Amino acid sequence: MAGWVRKTSRGFVVSEIQVLLESIREAIRNAHAPAVPPVDPESLAQQLETQLSLRLRPTLRPVINATGVVLHTNLGRAPLSAAAQESLSAVSAQYTNLEFDLETGERSHRDKLIESSLKEVLGAEAAAVVNNNAAAIFLILNTLGAGREVIVSRGELVEIGGSFRIPDIMARSGAVLREVGTTNKTRIQDYEAAIGLETALLLRIHPSNYRIRGFTHRPALEELVELARRRQLPLVEDVGSGCLVDLRPFGIREEPLPQESLRAGVDLVCFSADKLLGGPQAGVIAGLRKWVDPVRKNPLMRTFRVEKLIYGALQATLASYRTGRAMEEIPVLRMLSMSRDEIAARSDAFIEKLGPCLPADSSLEIVDGISVVGGGSCPESQLPTRLITVRSGKTSAGRLEQSLRSQDPPIILRIEEDRAVIDLRTVFTHQEETLLAGLRRVLE
Ligand SMILES: *Cc1c(COP(=O)(O)O)cnc(C)c1O
Repeated sequence: MAGWVRKTSRGFVVSEIQVLLESIREAIRNAHAPAVPPVDPESLAQQLETQLSLRLRPTLRPVINATGVVLHTNLGRAPLSAAAQESLSAVSAQYTNLEFDLETGERSHRDKLIESSLKEVLGAEAAAVVNNNAAAIFLILNTLGAGREVIVSRGELVEIGGSFRIPDIMARSGAVLREVGTTNKTRIQDYEAAIGLETALLLRIHPSNYRIRGFTHRPALEELVELARRRQLPLVEDVGSGCLVDLRPFGIREEPLPQESLRAGVDLVCFSADKLLGGPQAGVIAGLRKWVDPVRKNPLMRTFRVEKLIYGALQATLASYRTGRAMEEIPVLRMLSMSRDEIAARSDAFIEKLGPCLPADSSLEIVDGISVVGGGSCPESQLPTRLITVRSGKTSAGRLEQSLRSQDPPIILRIEEDRAVIDLRTVFTHQEETLLAGLRRVLE
């Protein structure tokens, strides 16, 4: 144990030994004979070794996402680009100019760091960054709408994953929700009829995770812009995903581009940075300075502001858009644009490597399937893929999924029609060897 004492401390190792011995005593007292671990010095040392390694393993761990769900919220949404990772390590362990103007030597504001990148990418006059899009909407409503009315279409009162519901956020922000239209049809006249002395702003929300189909109507953005201008009200749009490039060629339709909304005359947009944008968790607020400034000066801004790591990672992510390299450099975009043929070729090569080492009672097959965008985006987009289905003669699909999940790093996959399926779309090529090794261990 001397090695562990050097690496940690005597006190820590001693207390872990006590924990181990106590658990062995407990097993003996309960007299579950087969469950009592051996107590010779060698196996005690080995048990302690395992216990210490497990105890010190971080609870937040990298996993292999073999589900084919690109923006898997439970798996941390967007994995960052190489440039964003470099920025994290560069700014994390040193002092930075977070709020320090290097030219004047005076105090500065942290949003200044990112504003020029955001302005360039979005064509916005001003921009601010907060913790996530939920915070962005809350802050906008609280700043511009508290004590007054905010007009929203009944078809757009979205819930994003449990705790985030527009009516609840609105209530907490102090703004009064003024619903107009119906679930399926809202016309521009409905907005106009609701405008009164109490109206603070018009809010348009992208129905990120659902679609209303059939007998429907939603005003064109241009109509809302015209109305807002004529009645001198700010028009705010929650575009959801922060999709900055046209993804229609890859089957992702109906995602509003924030820069297009701003160009069309929306006064303020907000969106997440860790959905289709492919950056760290953050919320972006961008638009006219006369609306961004008061939001930034809201005393609650302090509770939603982000730290230096986020500015670094977000700026590095935005740089890929500025240089026109986003499709190649941003993992989320790389994965979404991967063709079925590309995935097919990888899957073929993968099972060729895995196949020969498998026990005779297990089988692999490649079949057509669908990957999903996830993260509450693009519910109707279907990305054609090739799935590797894995069957074992010894265990069920459920057990297989469970065993793969307990590997180090954990391998997360989907169960479909009682088969364990692997979608290589979301597996990085550098993870393939680890995935292979994990599968071999589990199937043996
Ligand atoms: C995802 C989403 C949100 C919430 O964004 P977070 O960054 O997860 O807080 C809000 N509105 C819309 C329309 C969304 O799609």
